[in-house]
Amino acid sequence: MSAHGQGFSTRAIHEGLGADPGTGAIAPPIVLSTVFERQDVGAPVPPGYSIYSRMGNPNRCSLEKALAALEGGSDAIAFSSGVAAITAVFMALAPGSRVLVPADLYMGTRLGLRALWQGRLDVVEVAMDDLAAVATELRRHPTALVWAETPSNPRLVVTDIAAVAALAHGEGALLAVDNSWASPVLQNPIALGADVVMHSTSKYISGHSDLIGGALVVAAGCPLGSRLRDVQIHGGGVPSPFDAWLARRGLMTLAVRMREHCRNARKLAAFLASHPAVAEVYYPGLETHPGHDVARRQMRDFGAMMSFRLRGGEQAARHLPDKMRLIYNTTSLGGVESLMEHRLTAEGSTSPTPPDLVRFSVGIEDVEDLQADLAQGLAAVS
Ligand SMILES: *Cc1c(COP(=O)(O)O)cnc(C)c1O
Repeated sequence: MSAHGQGFSTRAIHEGLGADPGTGAIAPPIVLSTVFERQDVGAPVPPGYSIYSRMGNPNRCSLEKALAALEGGSDAIAFSSGVAAITAVFMALAPGSRVLVPADLYMGTRLGLRALWQGRLDVVEVAMDDLAAVATELRRHPTALVWAETPSNPRLVVTDIAAVAALAHGEGALLAVDNSWASPVLQNPIALGADVVMHSTSKYISGHSDLIGGALVVAAGCPLGSRLRDVQIHGGGVPSPFDAWLARRGLMTLAVRMREHCRNARKLAAFLASHPAVAEVYYPGLETHPGHDVARRQMRDFGAMMSFRLRGGEQAARHLPDKMRLIYNTTSLGGVESLMEHRLTAEGSTSPTPPDLVRFSVGIEDVEDLQADLAQGLAAVS
């Protein structure tokens, strides 16, 4: 429940929206105009209707208002992709800043750090689920930012957000959390002490595998807030009105979709964990998962991403996604349709991901059909 007493879906459906004053339309119009007329010579235009669309656009503004409300932040800043949002955070830091990143990390973040920030930032990897290791690294040198991702990609490592926030703040560092896999329905890092929350809106927020987008949500008083807005406007990586509109629409059904995603994932994780062809399942909802207790505390449910390792090793893992009939063999996640891939193939030879690992984004198809597909695929590679 929010401070206004309204629940998640009420705000997801109404925040920053209302009948269009010009037409009475309930579904928000997509405003394509790049320019907005000034009210009077020199008079400021209303917020969200800046005179030029790179500075502000009604579709982008309503997405930002909704994301800020749903994450409990004071502001949200939308970008043209998730990695543009990540890049904005690193651009907002002073040159030479020290940054701690998790050892298990979304490959795009890792590749971006390598391609764009080598020599410009001092990036140090740490096992983010090992609080003693995080504390040691923070004490070693002054650190500007801790970047966490929880649950992480692809091994579903769970970081204790509140504990890492306390450690970071104790040493004068900020905490940013990539919340793409949990979505704001399941986890709100700002309430646990994070300063910045990052989302790839390409995933659960849009939910239909039909847009690329990203966003940052900042906590009240976050010292990076105005810098991040500067990177958006002057860096120029803004989402199109249509993409902003799609992401805003995705938010409206996010809670119901996540409920189904999580319900399916819980059943399929249990099925995989008891299957003789499967060596190990990484899913925080399983009681055997090392991050289960922390996930229980900081998440409302366990999400719908999992990965698993096959007893048949690399050969079986490479072939399994190909054997699926209903589940698509491809990358990405968070759409209504189920997706599976051999993760090392997607990440490339420099990745630390084990070769026998398959990553699975559980969709909201009927779970019996998904289980039957898994059963026939696993039989084919056993
Ligand atoms: C997809 C993803 C990103 C990057 O987002 P894009 O929209 O593809 O640029 C960042 N972090 C995580 C955890 C992701 O899954």
